[in-house]
Amino acid sequence: MSDRTEHPKNNESGYQIRSRLIHGRSHSARWDYDHHVVPPMTASVTFRLDSVRRGAQGFEDFAQSEEQLGHAPIYVYDRLGEPNGDMLEDNLAAAEGGEMALCFASGMAAISAAICTLARSGDHVIAHKVLYGCTYSFIKNWLPRFQIEHTLADMADLDAVRQAVTKQTRVLYFETPVNPDMRLIDIAAIRSLADEINADRPESQRIRIVVDNTFATPFCQRPLELGADVVCESLTKAIGGFGTDIGGAVIGPRSMYHDLILFRKDFGAALSPKSAWPPLVYGLPTLATRMINYQKTALRVAHFLEHHPKVEAVHYPGLRSFPQYDLACRQMRDYRGQFAPGSMIYFVVKDPDGTDKAGERLIDWAAQNAYTLTLAVSLGQIKTLIEAPYSMTHAAMPDDEKLARGLVPSGIRLSVGLEDWHDIIADLGAALEQV
Ligand SMILES: *Cc1c(COP(=O)(O)O)cnc(C)c1O
Repeated sequence: MSDRTEHPKNNESGYQIRSRLIHGRSHSARWDYDHHVVPPMTASVTFRLDSVRRGAQGFEDFAQSEEQLGHAPIYVYDRLGEPNGDMLEDNLAAAEGGEMALCFASGMAAISAAICTLARSGDHVIAHKVLYGCTYSFIKNWLPRFQIEHTLADMADLDAVRQAVTKQTRVLYFETPVNPDMRLIDIAAIRSLADEINADRPESQRIRIVVDNTFATPFCQRPLELGADVVCESLTKAIGGFGTDIGGAVIGPRSMYHDLILFRKDFGAALSPKSAWPPLVYGLPTLATRMINYQKTALRVAHFLEHHPKVEAVHYPGLRSFPQYDLACRQMRDYRGQFAPGSMIYFVVKDPDGTDKAGERLIDWAAQNAYTLTLAVSLGQIKTLIEAPYSMTHAAMPDDEKLARGLVPSGIRLSVGLEDWHDIIADLGAALEQV
């Protein structure tokens, strides 16, 4: 395989990201087969090496980025690196505007790897008080075993974050929008706070900002541009887009690459090439097209819910009534600078008889009767998905903590799909009649 990194058609940097997510690198040294228009799905665990010397070179090269190597990668064994995942990484780095990306077997594998790479025993992590259920469980149940301390704070409140910072704090971690309640955290404001604190600290003690961008996707928001150091995301959701495979990614500075890829090799949560292929071939290339259509429908659905007498509150960043609408307009922008409030809606139905069962009645009715509403966890698929975070995705958080943080049993999370929006609204209207 010749080194084609300098091929004249590799002038992608002059093109829009939307085009680049479809083409990737026109000619990639990661890909041995020149004439496929679609990259073949690799299904080989191990790679033939022409000599012991080449094998030794492959091991020696490991954990060095392509730029550092200056030659085509020598693949050795899938868990170390393979063509499909590596091509996906190139495209994810471009999508998020990061220096490097690494894929993992799941979003949780990516999140746990990022936190464990940035914090070690004796360090302290601050995370937002509402998190995806498994991230909450990871921080609560596993960080203490590694003697990594944590504080859960309201990260929409800068003073609360400032008060939680200790000399040992190394990581500020949050989702924005937050799963499931759609609160936004101001990335640029957190950046200013971190800069202020880091000013007196040596490099090794600096605080890093890690943002989970799963809900927004890089189409709607680029945390690295807004001041985050590292992005984590699940590829299982809107980036994968079709609900066929689990995966995750960490995107960030080149300085993290070495530790992160060693972590992946040794803890073993590498993304299977068969799971890298769908987001590479279907997911990322259609992200913009899907997201533009999700958003149009999501805004219509949010307006419908907002005016419905049985709905108590609707949280969608695209609504003018959204309490953080100004921040949403600043922070959630697509590649062309248009407002991009995403595909996720959280709403609370009224609970007239005080039984906390109104949301469950609505969802159960929809699960049995509504053609376009599917009761299922996960999100960002072509089908509209509905679920009850209080009792499902956020079950890891104790009820008193959920209630104290504003998560209620009648809260409903909706991931808007690509169906005709009239049908989605008609089905939601019928389901609301049951409450
Ligand atoms: C689903 C999800 C994750 C975890 O991703 P997996 O691919 O399921 O491991 C992390 N963060 C958020 C916000 C999610 O919605």
